[in-house]
Amino acid sequence: MTAMRCPFCDTFLQGDGEGPLSIALKGHLLEAHHLRAERDVLSGVKFREHDPQMWEGMKSGAVPTDRAVGEDVEESVLCPFCGERFFGHDGEDLTQHLIAHFQDVHGIRTPGRSLTLVR
Ligand SMILES: [Zn+2]
Ligand SMILES: [Zn+2]
Repeated sequence: MTAMRCPFCDTFLQGDGEGPLSIALKGHLLEAHHLRAERDVLSGVKFREHDPQMWEGMKSGAVPTDRAVGEDVEESVLCPFCGERFFGHDGEDLTQHLIAHFQDVHGIRTPGRSLTLVR
């Protein structure tokens, strides 16, 4: 079970793995913040399962990753708007990635409290 915070209102969102977490985020953004994806990017995605071989591949460099080799990046979530996948150590990490991504890529500004945490 992964728990992350909504980038906008700090509501905790939970999901058992990448798929349920991404869908929970998408549903929350629509219901609470009226942010609707232009296309349903999540419906066509094959969600990542916990796959030990993939993690071994990432550590050995066989699977591309922008993370340092050997980093523990077991958690992941997809952007509900474009389907980009984010990896993190934990839900808090995922939240920070999404805050930066929403602003940089989608031009969605998040509340000031969170801005201070963006690199
Ligand atoms: Zn929210
Ligand atoms: Zn996106």
